[in-house]
Amino acid sequence: MHAAWPLSPHTGCLEVICGPMFSGKTEELIRRLRLAAIARQRVQIFKSAKDVRYDETEIVSHADSRLQSEPITSADQIFAKLHPKTRVVGIDEAQFLGNELIAITQTLVDRGLRVIIAGLDQDFRGEPFEPMPQLLAIAEVITKQPAVCVICSAPATRTQRLVCNDDRVLVGASESYEARCRRCHDSSGHAQTEFLPRQKTKIVVSA
Ligand code: ADP
Ligand code: MG
Ligand code: ZN
Repeated sequence: MHAAWPLSPHTGCLEVICGPMFSGKTEELIRRLRLAAIARQRVQIFKSAKDVRYDETEIVSHADSRLQSEPITSADQIFAKLHPKTRVVGIDEAQFLGNELIAITQTLVDRGLRVIIAGLDQDFRGEPFEPMPQLLAIAEVITKQPAVCVICSAPATRTQRLVCNDDRVLVGASESYEARCRRCHDSSGHAQTEFLPRQKTKIVVSA
């Protein structure tokens, strides 16, 4: 699907993968970065040190797919850590890195790098989550992935916060968030009894 990008080894491109939590953004990022490594392109992966859910030196999906990454506390540290031979840069959880990431991404792509960014396009209220709207606007390739709504099983485009906290950034996993469709999403983000975390469902795949 993305085999045509980048146009040539010297032309940079920006790919953005977005969607709610549990939509497979990290899995898709890992898949593309693994393919780039198989193609013998030097890959570097960065994620915000704010993401303390897992080991700070790995990006990890909810299905436990993992790839080594370098933690950064601000987007400009990417320049300092960038190896001159790196061809592909992966960035996970872009919503933690702020608007500073926009100019840094433009510079990397203008230098001819392939940059693949994953992040939440909406916050827990369903509002556009900077810098994702700006990154989506300047990207060559965008992928918006749905999760599965835990209430009605429809495609889920939103992230439901399950705890009473109004901070825009509140790091958490399935104890604090669920994937929901537009109809089942409560944008107040204030947990009510019916919004308490559901028991984990065991996934059974039959032949
Ligand atoms: P993201 O980075 O978008 O949060 P991940 O790549 O970490 O997503 O995890 C995706 C995986 O999460 C899926 O492959 C699936 O195994 C699991 N998962 C758990 N809950 C859901 C859900 N409600 N909808 C879709 N996938 C889910
Ligand atoms: Mg993720
Ligand atoms: Zn729903």
